[in-house]
Amino acid sequence: MSNDIDNVTPKGVLLVVSGPSGAGKGTICQMLRDQLPDLGYSISVTTRAPRTGEVDGESYFFKTIPDVKQMIEKGELLEYAEVYGNYYGTPRKYVEEQLESGRDVLLEIDIQGALQIKKRFPEGVFVFIVPPSLDELSARIYKRGTDSEDVIKRRMASAASELTYAAEYDYIIVNDIAEKAAQKVLTIMEAERYRVARTYFIVDKICKAKK
Ligand code: 5GP
Repeated sequence: MSNDIDNVTPKGVLLVVSGPSGAGKGTICQMLRDQLPDLGYSISVTTRAPRTGEVDGESYFFKTIPDVKQMIEKGELLEYAEVYGNYYGTPRKYVEEQLESGRDVLLEIDIQGALQIKKRFPEGVFVFIVPPSLDELSARIYKRGTDSEDVIKRRMASAASELTYAAEYDYIIVNDIAEKAAQKVLTIMEAERYRVARTYFIVDKICKAKK
């Protein structure tokens, strides 16, 4: 019985990892997924073209603009945003079903999306990943080599103002060394499972059992 009480959570935890592009969200999220095989990962829809090595249905669901607009109209996306000229969005069904079944779900999304999710899921855990410096951010975006010069310039131009949104989040993690940053997010998740809002049912259960 004590095992039950220790392990049961009524609903899954919605973990939202966000921050300026180039801060290293992707690497950190991949490490979290490797460490937590049971963590549900929401695959976003996007209208941007696949990059080399990206597989439809794994990296993203690659869609046309009319497809995504239709999903928006039908209310099939929990949030969506236009990021550097392309639409990105989180399919609603998967996230709701997983959370309902008690599984934790990870969203790796941009800041506009995270703020929309926060309105709908204030009980979610919102983690903001920041680079150690803007110079380092620029170096990472160039090193990644996946974006055109124009997109890199736009990403850098918005990075400083994007950082100010950190105040809207629950946690700020400086991504100096990705492994360490990922470890910190794991520690946060561990603590979040024990929040009163998620565990108060245990007290109810104990009291009922006593009668
Ligand atoms: P990329 O094109 O580099 O894969 O992603 C560009 C940005 O879009 C990243 O900041 C990424 O986190 C964000 N992004 C990916 N999926 C979603 C989504 O479903 N919704 C929102 N709002 N942003 C997303």
